[in-house]
Amino acid sequence: MRIDYLTLFPEMFEGVLNTSILKRAQDKGMLEVNTINFRNYALNKHNQVDDYPFGGGQGMVLKPEPIFNAMEDIGRDDNTRVVLMCPQGEPFTQAKAQALSETEHIVFICGHYEGYDERIRTHLVTDEISIGDYVLTGGELPAMTMTDAIVRLIPGVLGNHQSHEDDSFQDGLLEFPQYTRPREFKGLTVPEVLLSGNHARIDKWRHEQKLIRTFVKRPDLLSKLSLNQEDEKILESYKKRIENKG
Ligand code: SAM
Repeated sequence: MRIDYLTLFPEMFEGVLNTSILKRAQDKGMLEVNTINFRNYALNKHNQVDDYPFGGGQGMVLKPEPIFNAMEDIGRDDNTRVVLMCPQGEPFTQAKAQALSETEHIVFICGHYEGYDERIRTHLVTDEISIGDYVLTGGELPAMTMTDAIVRLIPGVLGNHQSHEDDSFQDGLLEFPQYTRPREFKGLTVPEVLLSGNHARIDKWRHEQKLIRTFVKRPDLLSKLSLNQEDEKILESYKKRIENKG
C-alpha cells in the first residue's frame, strides 16, 4: 500500500509513522508513505495557500490550486482513494478501515485551521471522513489515526500473537473481558471457565460476554446486527438476572 499525505505540517507525521506497527509495515515492504507539503504547490510568490471567503465571514479558506496541483504530481488511478479529512464527513468505523485496507493507494488531504474551497470537495475526493463529532485544529491527527487503524488490517502486518480477529467491532460486537496471570490478585480471581482448558466452554463464555458487554456499553451497535435466536436468549436471560437483582 502507498499512502500520500497532503499537509502543511509534514513534521507532525515523523514520530507516528516511524514507530511500532507503522514502522514495521514499512520495514517489511508492505507500506510506503510520503508527506507532501502543498505549500510547495502554491502559485504566488508568498506561497499563499489560503484566502478570504467569497461573500465575507470569519476564517480563511484553503485555495484549490495548491491541492489540485499537488494531486496531479502525485498521480492517481481508478483505485486511488482520495480522503478529505473533515468534521462534516462520514464517521470513520472499523468497516471503513477494513475497506480502505484493501486498496493500494490512499491520499489523505489534511486541512489546518480553516475550511476548504468547495471545489476540492466536489472534484477531487472520493471519501470525506470525520473521526468524530468534534473539531480539531487540523486533519493530520485524524489522518494518522486512520492510517494506524487501516494498516494494522493489511494481512501480514500484525504478527499472529497480535491478531485483530477478536478485536472490538470486527464482528460488530465489543471484545470479551481478558485476564492474565496471576490467577488471584488482591483477592480478585479469574473466571473459573478460563482456567478449565475446555475450549468449547471458553468460546461459548466469550461469545456471551461479547453480547452482554455490547448490550451494556454500546446498545447502538446491537441494534445494527440481526441476532440469532440463541443470542436473543442469552440477552433475555441476562436482562432477567439484572431485573431480579434490582
Ligand atoms: N470550519 C470547519 C468546519 O466547521 O467544518 C472546521 C475546520 S477544522 C478547524 C480544520 C481541519 O481540521 C479540517 O479541515 C479537517 O481537515 C480537520 N479536522 C478537524 N476536525 C476533524 C474531525 N473530527 N475529523 C476529521 N478531520 C477533522
